[in-house]
Amino acid sequence: MAQLILLPGKERSAFKRHPWLFAGSVGRLEGRARPGDTVEVLADNLKPLGRAAYSPQSQIRARFWTFEADESVDDAFFKRRIAAAVARRQALPELRGQAGLRLIHAESDGLPGVIADQYGDTVVVQLTSAGADKWRQAIVAALVKATGCARVYERSDSDVRGLEGLGPVTGWVHGEAPATPLSIEENGVRLAIDIAGGHKTGFYLDQRDNRALLGQLAAGQEVLNCFCYTGGFSLQALAGGAASVLSIDSSGPALAQARANLALNPELPAERAAWLEADVFSALRDFRKAGRTFDLIVLDPPKFAPSAAHADRAAKAYKDINLLGCRLLKPGGLLMTYSCSGGVGLELFQKIVAGAALDAGRAARIVRRLSGSADHPVALNFPEGEYLKGLLVQVG
Ligand code: SAH
Repeated sequence: MAQLILLPGKERSAFKRHPWLFAGSVGRLEGRARPGDTVEVLADNLKPLGRAAYSPQSQIRARFWTFEADESVDDAFFKRRIAAAVARRQALPELRGQAGLRLIHAESDGLPGVIADQYGDTVVVQLTSAGADKWRQAIVAALVKATGCARVYERSDSDVRGLEGLGPVTGWVHGEAPATPLSIEENGVRLAIDIAGGHKTGFYLDQRDNRALLGQLAAGQEVLNCFCYTGGFSLQALAGGAASVLSIDSSGPALAQARANLALNPELPAERAAWLEADVFSALRDFRKAGRTFDLIVLDPPKFAPSAAHADRAAKAYKDINLLGCRLLKPGGLLMTYSCSGGVGLELFQKIVAGAALDAGRAARIVRRLSGSADHPVALNFPEGEYLKGLLVQVG
């Protein structure tokens, strides 16, 4: 095994069990290692720190698999880690029996570059690092063993693979396509999941609890759901008794799926739902001009800032939609607003929303802080894992 020797002082993050080693921390590589190979990581005084996957093309030069200097990274390692991640979810009553469930949340489950979501008896796996890519077979076998699922589909087409020098890989890696279209039930609502063509692994499972909360708040309300994708929040609002739900997305296929999802739930009042294919920024401006108002507005935009480098431009976009959202709310209305940008922290996000309310001339109060569901845990040694943050704001 090749050895990656750190520069003096650069072992500190490993002592805190942070899984990433940036290029600037690395002194030298002794021996040969190809992308994804496991290397032994040593401090500059040659104290062993653990074993990591080598990513020569990436600024994140290595990702720790283990902080135990003598733990082998092999098939059995992935079996153990994956079984433990699945068991942690089974240990939480709120997650038991969920048809749609994140099984592996990458670094936060001790498996950098590995994401796995279960939809019924299908697992969708996404490998985003050279190390994860290398262990595809072991990871797939361990997922099948830990879940008993019939099939595994790979959706390794995320842009971040490019940073690792990896191209896209998609297709069935275990079992065959199911005979009937995939669907799950979430908080009592049925949703079809397009694992091959949808975003991420097909669905945004991280918003499960927040959709349930919207359902609890929606009775009798005029709801505006911005960036609705396949209608997860919209259907939950209808199930919760909303007076009306207007949903906006710029993607025609997402809206088509949203309508199809509504049709899968014949008990929901379809006549209360309206769908608008539009750019949220301009649609909200048009509503403002037209004097339209709402009781409850959901803003769940895409990642405006994938990294801190994009934070400034992203801040402007967040400010813009939150300002418009505040203006469109009736007095006492609720703004459910999110950022899933890694580059925008909770503190900054709160400042942006505060600035938006101020500019709208509305006194506003946080009544709840929102985050991802329990199957998207945040390891305390990996605060970067807390990408999804939300605020429920009552706007006076
Ligand atoms: N709230 C959704 C997830 C949102 S993902 C859920 O619960 O599942 C972000 C969505 O925003 C995508 O569907 C994308 O098509 C849409 N989108 C991105 N930019 C947009 C824009 N400027 N206007 C409208 N929709 C946009």
